Amino acid sequence: MDSQSPDMKTRPEGPVRAPSAVPIDDAVLPYEVDALDVRGRLVRLGPALDDILTKHDYPAPVGKLLGEAIVLTTLLGSALKFEGRFILQAQTDGPVSFLVVDYKAPDQLRAYARFDASRLGTAKDSGALLGRGHLAMTIDQGPDMSRYQGLVALDGGSLEDAAHEYFLRSEQIPTRVRLAVGEEWRSNDGGRHRWRAGGMLMQFLPKAPERARQADLHPGDAPEGAEVHAVAEDDAWVEARSLVETVEDVELIDPELSGERLLYRLFHERGVRVFKPLVLKAQCSCSRDAVAAMLKSFSPDDRAAMVKDDKVVVTCEFCSSVYDFTPDEAGVEDA
Ligand SMILES: [Zn+2]
Repeated sequence: MDSQSPDMKTRPEGPVRAPSAVPIDDAVLPYEVDALDVRGRLVRLGPALDDILTKHDYPAPVGKLLGEAIVLTTLLGSALKFEGRFILQAQTDGPVSFLVVDYKAPDQLRAYARFDASRLGTAKDSGALLGRGHLAMTIDQGPDMSRYQGLVALDGGSLEDAAHEYFLRSEQIPTRVRLAVGEEWRSNDGGRHRWRAGGMLMQFLPKAPERARQADLHPGDAPEGAEVHAVAEDDAWVEARSLVETVEDVELIDPELSGERLLYRLFHERGVRVFKPLVLKAQCSCSRDAVAAMLKSFSPDDRAAMVKDDKVVVTCEFCSSVYDFTPDEAGVEDA
């Protein structure tokens, strides 16, 4: 797979290789386009996504929304190198009032959503399903490191919109994000459908930081008619962004189109390099010890209130694993 095609032999050594024709699912493919000073990651999710969404048996609109959140979290979380977590949480007044995706570096994903089935109705897109509230993105790199949290308001827009807002406010790096989720139906598989998803993140990282300057955020309290500070965007970024905006959902999801071929299709005129893909898995990180530690963090009254039929039973919302404790094990004091 790492062999170079003849027409690439003149390029410098390094990660350059011919686009692989073989699609890899559940993987993040980092890439860079030197000529445009952009770098990013492409993600394709198949079995891992299907495993998470199917286990919970979500109605299709909820599955699609949580799928988008999983793709976004994967794009962001895969920037963590060795350890740490990237947690995306949405809390809103919409039909899907809560969702969480937990990415544990280097390669574990888990997620769940809470929703009100009676309110799903005609809400189809992510904006309508989420409604108003906020999206929190937390980077937790372990006990010795400070936690970082970025918050974005959700105001009826899509998760892509919210991601752009996050990058504009928190990271101040010109960024485009694309997210797509779909259901694949195969007649030779008993008619069962499978969830698939794909997404792309692209960032403008020129060596001269002034080239990445963006227009100021609109001052919400400026008098009407006040001029908003205008900044001409860099030509390279305008070109890269317009290329990424041509990507269609079907291309991001297509099980027959490898990530490398998709990147080549987009950037072949400028030359694109890809790096070693990172393979992901759907895996919960819950354990009996972790649940016991969580119980210990509760107040004695809260613990006592959890005793039913002389047992404390805790079900993991991510993976539905059930943990049983005696009141004694759960730290419940005798009444
Ligand atoms: Zn679990």
